[in-house]
Amino acid sequence: MRTERRTVPAPEDLGTAVIGFPEGTELELDIRLEAVMEGVLVSGTVRGRAVGECVRCLDEVLEDVEVPFTELYAYPDRAEVAREDGADEEDVHELDGDLADLEPVLRDTVVPALPFGPLCQPDCPGLCSECGARLAEDPDHAHEIIDPRWGALRTLAEKQDETKES
Ligand SMILES: [Zn+2]
Ligand SMILES: [Zn+2]
Repeated sequence: MRTERRTVPAPEDLGTAVIGFPEGTELELDIRLEAVMEGVLVSGTVRGRAVGECVRCLDEVLEDVEVPFTELYAYPDRAEVAREDGADEEDVHELDGDLADLEPVLRDTVVPALPFGPLCQPDCPGLCSECGARLAEDPDHAHEIIDPRWGALRTLAEKQDETKES
């Protein structure tokens, strides 16, 4: 058994539409490699800081993520047998010499651990539906509510002004 600690740059597109790891940011890996019958069992944890957007107010959200993972990397001949037995190609990870390509495993581990709807703070009040102002910065923010019928009259008045002007 061998343990390793590595820092790797995040591959591109590691994340969802609302949050993810910018390409090249550091991911810290604590890896444990164990030789087993079929190949090498790779387990450990991955840590990194994801950057996203608050789904309510669009502010930046930083999310520290730490997730455990375990994956078997099979010897090529064992991987072949697994495929012949009908295992999904995606589920079979094959050792390439002494190297294990961790990227697909990291992707499968880290992306589902990201929040589905990131928030800058749990009770983020979001944006004003009228003007888009950040309510967190201006809690008493309000608009004069115009009765829609008066609103229609006002539009009419504005139109008349325009005709007068022209
Ligand atoms: Zn927010
Ligand atoms: Zn407003």
